[in-house]
Amino acid sequence: APVLVWFRRDVRLSDHPALQAACTGGRPVIPVFIHDEAVQGLGAAPKWRLGLGLECFGAALREKGSRLILRKGDALEVLRALIKETGASAVYWSRLYDPEAVARDTKVKSALKGQGIEAKSFGGHLMFEPWTVETKTGGFYKVYTPFWKMVKDREVEAPLPAPGDIPAPQSWPESDDLDAWALGAAMHRGADVVRPHVRLGEQAAQSRLGAFIAQIIAGYDTTRDQPSVDGTSGLSENLSLGEISPHQCWHAGQRAREEGKPGAETFLKELVWREFAYHLMHHTPQLLTGNWKADWDAFPWNQDERSAEVQRWKQGRTGIQFVDAAMREMYVTGRMHNRGRMIVASYLTKHLLCHWKIGLQWFEDCLIDWDPASNAMGWQWSAGSGPDATPYFRVFNPVTQLDKFDKDRAYVRRWIAEGRQTPSDTALAYFDAVPRSWGLGPDDSYPDPVVAADAGRKRALEAYENRGF
Ligand code: FAD
Repeated sequence: APVLVWFRRDVRLSDHPALQAACTGGRPVIPVFIHDEAVQGLGAAPKWRLGLGLECFGAALREKGSRLILRKGDALEVLRALIKETGASAVYWSRLYDPEAVARDTKVKSALKGQGIEAKSFGGHLMFEPWTVETKTGGFYKVYTPFWKMVKDREVEAPLPAPGDIPAPQSWPESDDLDAWALGAAMHRGADVVRPHVRLGEQAAQSRLGAFIAQIIAGYDTTRDQPSVDGTSGLSENLSLGEISPHQCWHAGQRAREEGKPGAETFLKELVWREFAYHLMHHTPQLLTGNWKADWDAFPWNQDERSAEVQRWKQGRTGIQFVDAAMREMYVTGRMHNRGRMIVASYLTKHLLCHWKIGLQWFEDCLIDWDPASNAMGWQWSAGSGPDATPYFRVFNPVTQLDKFDKDRAYVRRWIAEGRQTPSDTALAYFDAVPRSWGLGPDDSYPDPVVAADAGRKRALEAYENRGF
Protein backbone atom coordinates (compact mmCIF):
# COMPACT_ATOMS: atom_id res chain seq x y z
CA ALA A 1 0.00 0.00 0.00
CA PRO A 2 1.36 3.48 -0.88
CA VAL A 3 2.58 6.17 1.51
CA LEU A 4 1.24 9.67 1.05
CA VAL A 5 3.86 12.35 1.69
CA TRP A 6 1.97 15.51 2.51
CA PHE A 7 4.12 18.53 1.54
CA ARG A 8 3.43 21.95 3.04
CA ARG A 9 6.39 24.29 3.57
CA ASP A 10 9.08 21.79 2.67
CA VAL A 11 9.20 21.62 -1.12
CA ARG A 12 12.59 19.98 -1.51
CA LEU A 13 13.99 16.54 -2.21
CA SER A 14 17.21 16.61 -0.21
CA ASP A 15 17.39 16.61 3.57
CA HIS A 16 13.74 15.71 3.84
CA PRO A 17 13.32 13.14 6.64
CA ALA A 18 9.65 12.41 5.87
CA LEU A 19 10.30 11.81 2.17
CA GLN A 20 13.41 9.80 2.96
CA ALA A 21 11.50 7.56 5.37
CA ALA A 22 8.74 7.05 2.81
CA CYS A 23 11.20 6.16 0.04
CA THR A 24 13.16 3.65 2.07
CA GLY A 25 10.08 1.79 3.25
CA GLY A 26 9.76 -0.20 0.03
CA ARG A 27 6.25 1.10 -0.65
CA PRO A 28 5.10 3.34 -3.50
CA VAL A 29 5.21 7.05 -2.61
CA ILE A 30 2.56 9.60 -3.55
CA PRO A 31 3.60 13.24 -2.98
CA VAL A 32 0.61 15.47 -2.20
CA PHE A 33 0.01 19.18 -1.70
CA ILE A 34 -3.31 20.40 -0.30
CA HIS A 35 -4.74 23.85 -0.92
CA ASP A 36 -6.54 24.22 2.39
CA GLU A 37 -7.52 27.11 4.65
CA ALA A 38 -3.90 27.79 5.53
CA VAL A 39 -3.10 28.41 1.87
CA GLN A 40 -6.29 30.38 1.44
CA GLY A 41 -5.22 32.70 4.25
CA LEU A 42 -1.76 33.55 2.89
CA GLY A 43 -0.90 37.10 1.88
CA ALA A 44 -0.70 38.00 -1.80
CA ALA A 45 3.08 37.69 -2.27
CA PRO A 46 3.68 34.52 -0.23
CA LYS A 47 0.74 32.86 -1.99
CA TRP A 48 2.09 33.79 -5.41
CA ARG A 49 5.58 32.63 -4.41
CA LEU A 50 4.09 29.34 -3.19
CA GLY A 51 2.58 28.81 -6.63
CA LEU A 52 5.98 29.26 -8.27
CA GLY A 53 7.54 26.93 -5.72
CA LEU A 54 4.95 24.23 -6.34
CA GLU A 55 5.43 24.41 -10.09
CA CYS A 56 9.18 24.04 -9.71
CA PHE A 57 8.87 21.24 -7.18
CA GLY A 58 6.37 19.38 -9.36
CA ALA A 59 8.91 19.51 -12.20
CA ALA A 60 11.70 18.23 -9.90
CA LEU A 61 9.49 15.31 -8.88
CA ARG A 62 8.66 14.51 -12.50
CA GLU A 63 12.36 14.31 -13.29
CA LYS A 64 12.51 11.57 -10.69
CA GLY A 65 9.60 9.73 -12.29
CA SER A 66 7.24 10.94 -9.58
CA ARG A 67 4.49 13.60 -9.43
CA LEU A 68 3.00 16.18 -7.11
CA ILE A 69 -0.71 15.52 -6.65
CA LEU A 70 -2.62 18.75 -6.00
CA ARG A 71 -5.96 18.80 -4.22
CA LYS A 72 -8.12 21.52 -2.73
CA GLY A 73 -10.21 21.32 0.45
CA ASP A 74 -10.07 20.53 4.14
CA ALA A 75 -6.80 18.66 4.77
CA LEU A 76 -8.32 15.74 6.64
CA GLU A 77 -11.10 15.25 4.11
CA VAL A 78 -8.66 15.38 1.20
CA LEU A 79 -6.29 12.90 2.85
CA ARG A 80 -9.18 10.54 3.61
CA ALA A 81 -10.35 10.73 0.01
CA LEU A 82 -6.84 10.01 -1.27
CA ILE A 83 -6.46 7.10 1.12
CA LYS A 84 -9.69 5.68 -0.23
CA GLU A 85 -8.68 6.19 -3.87
CA THR A 86 -5.14 4.86 -3.58
CA GLY A 87 -5.37 2.34 -0.75
CA ALA A 88 -2.58 4.24 1.06
CA SER A 89 -1.79 2.98 4.54
CA ALA A 90 0.40 5.83 5.76
CA VAL A 91 0.68 9.62 5.68
CA TYR A 92 4.02 11.33 6.45
CA TRP A 93 4.75 15.02 6.79
CA SER A 94 7.26 17.55 8.19
CA ARG A 95 6.17 19.34 11.34
CA LEU A 96 5.11 22.98 11.36
CA TYR A 97 4.88 25.11 14.47
CA ASP A 98 2.38 27.93 14.08
CA PRO A 99 -0.71 27.39 16.23
CA GLU A 100 -3.13 26.89 13.32
CA ALA A 101 -0.94 24.28 11.65
CA VAL A 102 -0.41 22.54 14.98
CA ALA A 103 -4.17 22.37 15.62
CA ARG A 104 -4.85 21.06 12.11
CA ASP A 105 -2.05 18.48 12.21
CA THR A 106 -3.02 17.24 15.66
CA LYS A 107 -6.57 16.70 14.46
CA VAL A 108 -5.41 14.97 11.27
CA LYS A 109 -3.04 12.72 13.16
CA SER A 110 -5.55 11.49 15.68
CA ALA A 111 -8.32 11.04 13.10
CA LEU A 112 -6.10 9.03 10.75
CA LYS A 113 -4.68 6.94 13.54
CA GLY A 114 -8.24 6.28 14.64
CA GLN A 115 -8.93 4.67 11.28
CA GLY A 116 -5.79 2.54 11.43
CA ILE A 117 -3.58 4.70 9.20
CA GLU A 118 0.06 5.27 10.11
CA ALA A 119 0.18 9.05 10.52
CA LYS A 120 3.65 10.31 11.28
CA SER A 121 5.27 13.73 11.53
CA PHE A 122 8.99 14.36 11.07
CA GLY A 123 11.42 17.19 11.75
CA GLY A 124 13.22 19.14 9.07
CA HIS A 125 11.91 22.69 9.34
CA LEU A 126 13.99 23.43 12.45
CA MET A 127 17.35 22.30 13.79
CA PHE A 128 16.25 22.37 17.42
CA GLU A 129 12.77 21.25 18.31
CA PRO A 130 11.38 24.02 20.56
CA TRP A 131 10.59 21.65 23.43
CA THR A 132 14.17 20.38 23.55
CA VAL A 133 15.73 23.71 24.50
CA GLU A 134 15.16 24.45 28.17
CA THR A 135 16.60 26.81 30.74
CA LYS A 136 18.23 25.37 33.85
CA THR A 137 14.94 25.66 35.69
CA GLY A 138 12.99 23.92 32.95
CA GLY A 139 11.43 26.98 31.36
CA PHE A 140 11.83 28.39 27.87
CA TYR A 141 14.17 31.14 26.74
CA LYS A 142 12.86 34.67 26.45
CA VAL A 143 16.18 36.22 25.56
CA TYR A 144 18.27 35.33 22.53
CA THR A 145 21.86 35.25 23.87
CA PRO A 146 21.37 32.50 26.46
CA PHE A 147 19.35 30.56 23.85
CA TRP A 148 22.29 30.82 21.45
CA LYS A 149 24.73 29.71 24.15
CA MET A 150 22.57 26.72 24.93
CA VAL A 151 22.34 25.45 21.34
CA LYS A 152 25.53 26.60 19.64
CA ASP A 153 27.55 23.47 20.39
CA ARG A 154 24.75 21.01 19.86
CA GLU A 155 25.13 18.36 17.24
CA VAL A 156 22.97 19.31 14.24
CA GLU A 157 21.97 16.27 12.22
CA ALA A 158 23.92 15.93 8.99
CA PRO A 159 21.71 16.71 5.98
CA LEU A 160 20.24 13.72 4.15
CA PRO A 161 20.84 13.30 0.42
CA ALA A 162 17.90 13.39 -1.98
CA PRO A 163 16.37 9.93 -2.37
CA GLY A 164 17.91 8.11 -5.32
CA ASP A 165 14.56 6.77 -6.33
CA ILE A 166 11.00 7.75 -5.46
CA PRO A 167 8.99 4.55 -5.96
CA ALA A 168 5.94 5.36 -8.10
CA PRO A 169 2.51 3.81 -7.61
CA GLN A 170 1.01 1.67 -10.37
CA SER A 171 -1.49 4.35 -11.14
CA TRP A 172 -1.63 7.99 -10.10
CA PRO A 173 -4.66 9.64 -8.50
CA GLU A 174 -6.15 12.68 -10.23
CA SER A 175 -4.50 16.03 -9.60
CA ASP A 176 -5.87 19.57 -9.80
CA ASP A 177 -4.35 21.91 -12.32
CA LEU A 178 -2.02 24.36 -10.56
CA ASP A 179 -2.96 27.20 -12.91
CA ALA A 180 -6.61 26.79 -11.98
CA TRP A 181 -5.72 27.53 -8.36
CA ALA A 182 -4.63 31.01 -9.51
CA LEU A 183 -2.34 31.45 -6.52
CA GLY A 184 -1.01 34.67 -8.03
CA ALA A 185 -4.43 36.26 -8.48
CA ALA A 186 -3.94 38.88 -5.77
CA MET A 187 -0.51 39.97 -7.01
CA HIS A 188 -1.99 42.13 -9.77
CA ARG A 189 0.62 43.53 -12.08
CA GLY A 190 3.36 43.55 -9.43
CA ALA A 191 4.14 39.93 -10.22
CA ASP A 192 6.01 40.73 -13.45
CA VAL A 193 8.17 43.20 -11.60
CA VAL A 194 8.94 40.89 -8.68
CA ARG A 195 9.53 37.74 -10.74
CA PRO A 196 13.15 38.53 -11.79
CA HIS A 197 14.07 38.87 -8.12
CA VAL A 198 12.81 35.41 -7.16
CA ARG A 199 15.35 32.65 -6.62
CA LEU A 200 13.20 29.70 -7.30
CA GLY A 201 13.58 26.15 -6.11
CA GLU A 202 15.98 23.80 -4.45
CA GLN A 203 18.81 24.03 -6.98
CA ALA A 204 18.80 27.81 -6.99
CA ALA A 205 18.82 27.80 -3.19
CA GLN A 206 21.78 25.42 -3.09
CA SER A 207 23.77 27.49 -5.54
CA ARG A 208 22.93 30.64 -3.61
CA LEU A 209 24.24 28.99 -0.44
CA GLY A 210 27.39 27.89 -2.28
CA ALA A 211 28.02 31.37 -3.68
CA PHE A 212 27.38 32.95 -0.29
CA ILE A 213 29.91 30.68 1.40
CA ALA A 214 32.48 31.13 -1.37
CA GLN A 215 32.20 34.87 -1.92
CA ILE A 216 30.17 36.71 0.68
CA ILE A 217 30.47 35.12 4.11
CA ALA A 218 34.04 36.29 4.74
CA GLY A 219 32.87 39.90 4.63
CA TYR A 220 29.42 39.22 6.12
CA ASP A 221 30.21 40.92 9.44
CA THR A 222 30.26 44.29 7.71
CA THR A 223 28.34 43.79 4.46
CA ARG A 224 25.26 42.40 6.22
CA ASP A 225 24.45 45.86 7.51
CA GLN A 226 24.76 47.71 4.22
CA PRO A 227 21.46 47.66 2.41
CA SER A 228 22.95 48.63 -0.96
CA VAL A 229 25.32 45.64 -0.97
CA ASP A 230 24.48 42.05 -1.83
CA GLY A 231 26.06 41.10 1.45
CA THR A 232 23.74 38.50 2.97
CA SER A 233 22.72 34.99 1.96
CA GLY A 234 19.30 35.86 0.55
CA LEU A 235 18.15 32.44 1.73
CA SER A 236 15.13 33.52 3.79
CA GLU A 237 12.91 33.16 0.74
CA ASN A 238 13.95 29.54 0.28
CA LEU A 239 13.96 28.71 3.99
CA SER A 240 10.45 30.07 4.24
CA LEU A 241 9.12 27.55 1.74
CA GLY A 242 11.55 24.82 2.72
CA GLU A 243 13.38 24.79 -0.61
CA ILE A 244 16.50 24.46 1.55
CA SER A 245 16.78 23.17 5.10
CA PRO A 246 18.36 25.05 8.01
CA HIS A 247 20.57 22.00 8.59
CA GLN A 248 22.08 22.41 5.13
CA CYS A 249 22.78 26.09 5.83
CA TRP A 250 24.18 25.31 9.28
CA HIS A 251 26.62 22.66 8.09
CA ALA A 252 27.84 24.89 5.26
CA GLY A 253 28.34 27.70 7.81
CA GLN A 254 30.17 25.35 10.20
CA ARG A 255 32.57 24.29 7.47
CA ALA A 256 33.26 27.94 6.69
CA ARG A 257 33.89 28.55 10.38
CA GLU A 258 36.33 25.65 10.51
CA GLU A 259 38.13 27.12 7.50
CA GLY A 260 38.52 30.27 9.55
CA LYS A 261 36.24 32.46 7.46
CA PRO A 262 35.26 35.52 9.45
CA GLY A 263 31.55 36.11 9.32
CA ALA A 264 30.74 32.40 9.58
CA GLU A 265 29.84 32.56 13.23
CA THR A 266 27.60 35.56 12.66
CA PHE A 267 25.78 33.64 9.93
CA LEU A 268 25.25 30.71 12.32
CA LYS A 269 23.90 33.15 14.86
CA GLU A 270 21.41 34.49 12.35
CA LEU A 271 20.18 30.98 11.62
CA VAL A 272 19.66 30.63 15.34
CA TRP A 273 17.57 33.83 15.40
CA ARG A 274 15.18 31.98 13.12
CA GLU A 275 15.13 29.04 15.55
CA PHE A 276 14.61 31.43 18.45
CA ALA A 277 11.58 32.95 16.73
CA TYR A 278 10.06 29.47 16.38
CA HIS A 279 10.95 28.69 19.98
CA LEU A 280 9.03 31.78 21.10
CA MET A 281 6.08 31.06 18.84
CA HIS A 282 5.85 27.51 20.17
CA HIS A 283 5.97 28.51 23.82
CA THR A 284 3.94 31.71 23.51
CA PRO A 285 1.73 31.53 20.41
CA GLN A 286 0.25 34.91 21.33
CA LEU A 287 3.45 36.30 19.81
CA LEU A 288 1.49 36.26 16.55
CA THR A 289 -1.64 37.95 17.77
CA GLY A 290 -1.11 40.31 20.70
CA ASN A 291 1.42 42.30 22.67
CA TRP A 292 3.82 39.81 24.15
CA LYS A 293 4.27 42.18 27.08
CA ALA A 294 0.75 42.82 28.31
CA ASP A 295 1.60 46.27 29.72
CA TRP A 296 1.57 47.45 26.11
CA ASP A 297 -2.13 46.63 25.76
CA ALA A 298 -3.05 50.01 27.20
CA PHE A 299 -0.73 51.93 24.89
CA PRO A 300 -2.76 54.24 22.65
CA TRP A 301 -1.46 52.98 19.31
CA ASN A 302 -2.96 54.45 16.20
CA GLN A 303 -4.88 51.46 14.85
CA ASP A 304 -6.47 53.17 11.89
CA GLU A 305 -5.24 51.20 8.92
CA ARG A 306 -6.70 53.77 6.54
CA SER A 307 -5.08 56.83 8.09
CA ALA A 308 -3.02 59.01 5.77
CA GLU A 309 0.20 58.22 7.65
CA VAL A 310 -0.27 54.50 7.26
CA GLN A 311 -1.05 54.88 3.58
CA ARG A 312 2.07 56.93 3.02
CA TRP A 313 4.17 54.43 4.93
CA LYS A 314 2.82 51.58 2.80
CA GLN A 315 3.39 53.54 -0.37
CA GLY A 316 6.97 54.44 0.48
CA ARG A 317 6.03 58.13 0.48
CA THR A 318 6.81 59.16 4.06
CA GLY A 319 9.39 61.70 2.92
CA ILE A 320 12.03 59.87 4.98
CA GLN A 321 14.47 58.45 2.47
CA PHE A 322 15.61 55.35 4.33
CA VAL A 323 12.02 54.35 5.09
CA ASP A 324 10.82 55.00 1.55
CA ALA A 325 13.75 53.23 -0.11
CA ALA A 326 13.13 50.14 2.00
CA MET A 327 9.36 50.09 1.45
CA ARG A 328 9.92 50.39 -2.30
CA GLU A 329 12.55 47.67 -2.24
CA MET A 330 9.89 45.40 -0.78
CA TYR A 331 7.37 46.35 -3.45
CA VAL A 332 9.78 45.67 -6.30
CA THR A 333 11.69 42.64 -5.02
CA GLY A 334 9.32 41.04 -2.50
CA ARG A 335 12.10 41.33 0.08
CA MET A 336 13.60 43.99 2.27
CA HIS A 337 17.06 44.27 3.75
CA ASN A 338 17.11 43.50 7.48
CA ARG A 339 18.38 47.00 8.31
CA GLY A 340 15.49 48.40 6.29
CA ARG A 341 13.01 46.18 8.14
CA MET A 342 14.21 47.53 11.47
CA ILE A 343 14.07 51.12 10.25
CA VAL A 344 10.59 50.98 8.70
CA ALA A 345 9.21 49.06 11.67
CA SER A 346 10.67 51.55 14.12
CA TYR A 347 9.33 54.46 12.07
CA LEU A 348 5.81 53.03 11.90
CA THR A 349 5.56 52.06 15.54
CA LYS A 350 7.54 54.88 17.12
CA HIS A 351 7.54 57.93 14.87
CA LEU A 352 4.01 57.30 13.66
CA LEU A 353 2.83 55.57 16.86
CA CYS A 354 0.96 52.99 14.79
CA HIS A 355 0.19 49.50 16.00
CA TRP A 356 2.80 46.94 14.97
CA LYS A 357 0.02 44.65 13.71
CA ILE A 358 -0.59 47.02 10.80
CA GLY A 359 3.03 46.59 9.74
CA LEU A 360 3.03 42.86 10.42
CA GLN A 361 0.05 42.38 8.13
CA TRP A 362 1.46 44.55 5.39
CA PHE A 363 4.71 42.58 5.42
CA GLU A 364 2.67 39.39 5.35
CA ASP A 365 1.04 40.60 2.17
CA CYS A 366 4.21 41.83 0.45
CA LEU A 367 7.13 39.57 1.43
CA ILE A 368 8.09 36.54 -0.61
CA ASP A 369 10.14 35.38 2.38
CA TRP A 370 7.25 35.81 4.80
CA ASP A 371 7.68 33.62 7.85
CA PRO A 372 5.09 33.66 10.64
CA ALA A 373 7.56 33.44 13.51
CA SER A 374 10.35 35.72 12.24
CA ASN A 375 7.89 38.36 11.08
CA ALA A 376 6.03 38.49 14.40
CA MET A 377 9.23 38.45 16.43
CA GLY A 378 10.72 41.18 14.21
CA TRP A 379 7.69 43.43 14.62
CA GLN A 380 7.32 42.98 18.36
CA TRP A 381 11.06 43.43 18.79
CA SER A 382 10.92 46.68 16.87
CA ALA A 383 7.81 47.98 18.61
CA GLY A 384 9.19 47.23 22.05
CA SER A 385 6.27 44.99 23.01
CA GLY A 386 8.01 41.69 22.44
CA PRO A 387 10.34 39.37 24.27
CA ASP A 388 13.98 40.32 23.91
CA ALA A 389 12.74 43.60 22.49
CA THR A 390 14.67 46.71 21.70
CA PRO A 391 14.21 48.99 24.72
CA TYR A 392 11.24 51.28 24.19
CA PHE A 393 13.47 54.35 24.34
CA ARG A 394 15.60 53.19 21.43
CA VAL A 395 13.97 55.08 18.59
CA PHE A 396 16.03 54.56 15.48
CA ASN A 397 16.83 57.84 13.82
CA PRO A 398 16.25 57.09 10.13
CA VAL A 399 18.45 60.01 9.06
CA THR A 400 21.55 59.19 11.07
CA GLN A 401 21.04 55.51 10.24
CA LEU A 402 21.36 56.47 6.60
CA ASP A 403 24.65 58.25 7.28
CA LYS A 404 25.88 55.15 9.00
CA PHE A 405 24.74 52.40 6.67
CA ASP A 406 24.25 54.11 3.31
CA LYS A 407 26.93 56.75 3.38
CA ASP A 408 27.17 57.18 -0.38
CA ARG A 409 23.38 57.00 -0.75
CA ALA A 410 23.59 54.08 -3.18
CA TYR A 411 20.53 52.48 -1.58
CA VAL A 412 18.53 55.69 -1.81
CA ARG A 413 19.50 56.17 -5.46
CA ARG A 414 18.51 52.61 -6.23
CA TRP A 415 14.97 53.05 -4.95
CA ILE A 416 13.95 56.69 -5.14
CA ALA A 417 13.33 58.24 -8.55
CA GLU A 418 11.75 61.56 -7.66
CA GLY A 419 13.92 64.58 -8.19
CA ARG A 420 16.49 62.76 -10.35
CA GLN A 421 17.22 63.42 -13.99
CA THR A 422 18.24 59.84 -14.66
CA PRO A 423 16.58 57.61 -12.12
CA SER A 424 17.77 54.02 -11.85
CA ASP A 425 15.73 51.23 -13.45
CA THR A 426 14.94 49.79 -10.05
CA ALA A 427 13.59 53.12 -8.82
CA LEU A 428 11.38 53.32 -11.90
CA ALA A 429 10.28 49.70 -11.52
CA TYR A 430 8.55 50.71 -8.30
CA PHE A 431 6.00 52.71 -10.28
CA ASP A 432 5.26 49.64 -12.37
CA ALA A 433 4.88 47.50 -9.29
CA VAL A 434 2.40 49.56 -7.28
CA PRO A 435 -1.33 49.55 -7.93
CA ARG A 436 -2.39 52.11 -10.52
CA SER A 437 -5.01 53.35 -8.07
CA TRP A 438 -2.23 54.93 -5.99
CA GLY A 439 -1.78 57.40 -8.82
CA LEU A 440 1.98 57.70 -8.39
CA GLY A 441 4.58 58.57 -11.02
CA PRO A 442 8.33 59.27 -11.21
CA ASP A 443 7.71 62.91 -12.08
CA ASP A 444 5.94 63.59 -8.78
CA SER A 445 7.94 65.67 -6.37
CA TYR A 446 9.39 63.90 -3.38
CA PRO A 447 7.13 64.51 -0.34
CA ASP A 448 8.02 66.36 2.83
CA PRO A 449 8.27 64.10 5.90
CA VAL A 450 4.97 62.90 7.39
CA VAL A 451 6.71 63.14 10.73
CA ALA A 452 10.30 64.39 10.83
CA ALA A 453 13.00 62.29 12.44
CA ASP A 454 13.60 64.46 15.52
CA ALA A 455 10.00 65.55 16.12
CA GLY A 456 8.82 61.93 15.87
CA ARG A 457 11.38 60.75 18.34
CA LYS A 458 10.37 63.45 20.81
CA ARG A 459 6.69 62.63 20.42
CA ALA A 460 7.30 58.91 20.91
CA LEU A 461 9.34 59.42 24.05
CA GLU A 462 6.65 61.69 25.47
CA ALA A 463 3.99 59.09 24.74
CA TYR A 464 6.02 56.44 26.55
CA GLU A 465 6.58 58.73 29.49
CA ASN A 466 2.86 59.42 29.75
CA ARG A 467 2.24 55.70 29.92
CA GLY A 468 4.69 55.44 32.77
CA PHE A 469 7.21 53.30 30.88
P1 FAD B 1 20.95 36.46 6.20
O1 FAD B 1 21.57 37.65 6.83
O2 FAD B 1 21.70 35.78 5.14
O3 FAD B 1 20.65 35.44 7.39
C1 FAD B 1 20.54 34.03 7.19
C2 FAD B 1 19.21 33.52 7.69
O4 FAD B 1 19.11 33.72 9.09
C3 FAD B 1 18.00 34.22 7.10
O5 FAD B 1 17.66 33.69 5.84
C4 FAD B 1 16.96 33.96 8.16
O6 FAD B 1 16.38 32.68 8.02
C5 FAD B 1 17.76 34.00 9.44
N1 FAD B 1 17.66 35.33 10.04
C6 FAD B 1 18.47 36.40 9.83
N2 FAD B 1 18.08 37.44 10.58
C7 FAD B 1 16.98 37.05 11.27
C8 FAD B 1 16.12 37.67 12.21
N3 FAD B 1 16.31 38.94 12.62
N4 FAD B 1 15.08 36.96 12.69
C9 FAD B 1 14.87 35.68 12.31
N5 FAD B 1 15.66 35.04 11.43
C10 FAD B 1 16.71 35.70 10.92
N6 FAD B 1 12.64 37.05 8.21
C11 FAD B 1 11.95 36.17 7.48
O7 FAD B 1 12.51 35.16 7.05
N7 FAD B 1 10.62 36.36 7.20
C12 FAD B 1 9.94 37.45 7.66
O8 FAD B 1 8.74 37.57 7.39
C13 FAD B 1 10.67 38.42 8.40
N8 FAD B 1 10.05 39.56 8.84
C14 FAD B 1 10.76 40.48 9.56
C15 FAD B 1 10.12 41.64 10.03
C16 FAD B 1 10.81 42.60 10.77
C17 FAD B 1 10.09 43.84 11.26
C18 FAD B 1 12.19 42.41 11.04
C19 FAD B 1 12.96 43.44 11.81
C20 FAD B 1 12.83 41.25 10.59
C21 FAD B 1 12.15 40.29 9.86
N9 FAD B 1 12.79 39.11 9.37
C22 FAD B 1 12.05 38.18 8.67
C23 FAD B 1 14.18 38.81 9.73
C24 FAD B 1 15.28 39.26 8.73
O9 FAD B 1 15.08 40.57 8.34
C25 FAD B 1 15.35 38.35 7.48
O10 FAD B 1 15.38 37.00 7.88
C26 FAD B 1 16.58 38.65 6.64
O11 FAD B 1 16.59 39.98 6.22
C27 FAD B 1 16.60 37.72 5.45
O12 FAD B 1 17.66 38.00 4.58
P2 FAD B 1 18.79 36.92 4.30
O13 FAD B 1 18.20 35.59 4.02
O14 FAD B 1 19.70 37.49 3.28
O15 FAD B 1 19.49 36.87 5.73
